[in-house]
Amino acid sequence: MRKSVFFRRVLAILLLALLLWALLTAVLYSFLSRPVFMRIKAREMQPKAEMVATRAAASFLIDDVFFDSILLSSQELFNAWIFVMDGLSGDVRNASLPATESEARPVILEQIKKNNDRLLSGDFNSLWFTARLPKDGGSSEAFFIGVPIRVSFGRQDSVVGTVFFVSSMDEMNAGFHSINIALIFSSLIVLVLMVLPVWFITARLIRPLRQTRDVALAIAHGDFSIRADAGQVGEIGELAGIMNDLADKLSASIADLTLERNRLRQILAGMSDGLLAIDHNGTITSANPALLDLMGLDALPPTGSRLAEQPALMELSEPLMQVVTQKIDTEQTLSRHNRVLAVQMSPLCEPDGPAAGAVALIRDITEAERLEQTRRDYVANVSHELRTPLTAIRALVEPMRDGLVQAENDRQRYYGIILAEIVRLSRLINDMLELSRLQAGSLVMQLRDFELGSLLEDISDRFRLQAEDQQITLGWPENLSALPIVHANLDRVEQVLIILLDNAFKYTPSGGSIGLQVVWDDHTVAISVADTGIGIHPADVDAVFDRFYKADKAHQQPGTGLGLAIARELLRQMGQDITVTSQLGKGSTFTFTLARGG
Ligand code: ADP
Repeated sequence: MRKSVFFRRVLAILLLALLLWALLTAVLYSFLSRPVFMRIKAREMQPKAEMVATRAAASFLIDDVFFDSILLSSQELFNAWIFVMDGLSGDVRNASLPATESEARPVILEQIKKNNDRLLSGDFNSLWFTARLPKDGGSSEAFFIGVPIRVSFGRQDSVVGTVFFVSSMDEMNAGFHSINIALIFSSLIVLVLMVLPVWFITARLIRPLRQTRDVALAIAHGDFSIRADAGQVGEIGELAGIMNDLADKLSASIADLTLERNRLRQILAGMSDGLLAIDHNGTITSANPALLDLMGLDALPPTGSRLAEQPALMELSEPLMQVVTQKIDTEQTLSRHNRVLAVQMSPLCEPDGPAAGAVALIRDITEAERLEQTRRDYVANVSHELRTPLTAIRALVEPMRDGLVQAENDRQRYYGIILAEIVRLSRLINDMLELSRLQAGSLVMQLRDFELGSLLEDISDRFRLQAEDQQITLGWPENLSALPIVHANLDRVEQVLIILLDNAFKYTPSGGSIGLQVVWDDHTVAISVADTGIGIHPADVDAVFDRFYKADKAHQQPGTGLGLAIARELLRQMGQDITVTSQLGKGSTFTFTLARGG
């Protein structure tokens, strides 16, 4: 409380007001009380003077010894000197003045003469005044009161002289001074006594104001928990109330803003795209964690640092500053660590105002680029695959139309080739449709338990015959009934087996061998088709499951290049996988898994 300037000022003003009040009371008292005292003195002395005047009237007619003795003893009787003036002769009779006062007599007489005429006129019953009389080399104040001496002649009154009482004011002035001093002293005592109550009242008055100040200070330091006492009536209480209200509203607004900021931070942190924002000076204002990976940074650039001074991001500085100055969206691509990045840059600005900064959104488009490339390859592959049989058909049909093929057996041979090409074409189209249906997910794969042994039994005859035809040794599981029950789609598993076995026969020369093996554990059954065929080059192993992939780049081999892609897609839809191991010139083994049923 001691530090409060406001408190000290209010306290000082109140104490000063008290002091002024005491001083003014003393001064006003000394000015106003004097005439009152004089009037009291006049009222006290006037009857005495009138009584002496009545006596003096008689003494004018006959010698009055008693009156003379009154004059002589006037100081003792009335505490005043009496001066009696004869109105006709102008003689003055007076009480004898002590030797010490004798020098005052001429001054007294002068004062009496000055005022005598007014009394003699009969218009006044009394008149009083003060005058300074010489005394002991100095002067002292004296009080004069005069009354007329009236004598009645028949019915008429006439003034025949005057009586003046002259008394020293010393006593009255001394009393007056002591009252003044007592008054000043009592005022000072009141002042001292009032210091504590005034202190407490001021402190009470100031407390809500101090609290209000504390609330404002706390708000300035970000603390919204402090509240002022708004209970006081009047402006100070209202101010405290308003400040409390302000603290409530600010606290709520800041909580909202913090929530919003945290949400935004979370969104930025959770974004897979990189975000980099700068202000109009090129200072970084925001950067999200995705930027680390995308731009290959070790640490995020600190907010407040200059973009142009960040070596890893320097190349974005110039285009971003251009976006700030030109206020137009720009897009560019960057290459980083075998990745293709698309950078979308936009200005941050109000529609009419200058740009306050710019933001760059960095997206990894490597996969999109790859997909685009795949799409292009697909179209090229499809066109190529379609064109090959069509070109062959055209090359045969045109000479036949022009009548160039005359021999019947040639014609029959041509028809045979055309039919084979058409069959190839329709197989290709069927495979393409099958694969796209599978990849579109439009086929619903119903899974159920069935015996793997009976499926292998069903297809074994067909491949045994083919093996005999191609002089290939076919190895088939011995005890088919011992094979486990699997949970899958029977038709689709058959389709996969046929693709793999067809391929094995396709790529295994006569004299080779093909073997089908089944192994299983509690959950999974693994089926392998192994051959001793041409094998696959290590560089091609990973690609054989891709669409239209053919190890034979000249595409001379029969087949569409879609079989393995279809097989992998079918297994994927059943929740299973297919792998291959191969050695060029030695053979290949394709293994796929199925879930155990039962
Ligand atoms: P295709 O109809 O051409 O056989 P696939 O998708 O079934 O198409 O096979 C893709 C490619 O994988 C084939 O062109 C072939 O080069 C290779 N391939 C598939 N199976 C074998 C195998 N058993 N031995 C050697 N190469 C194989």
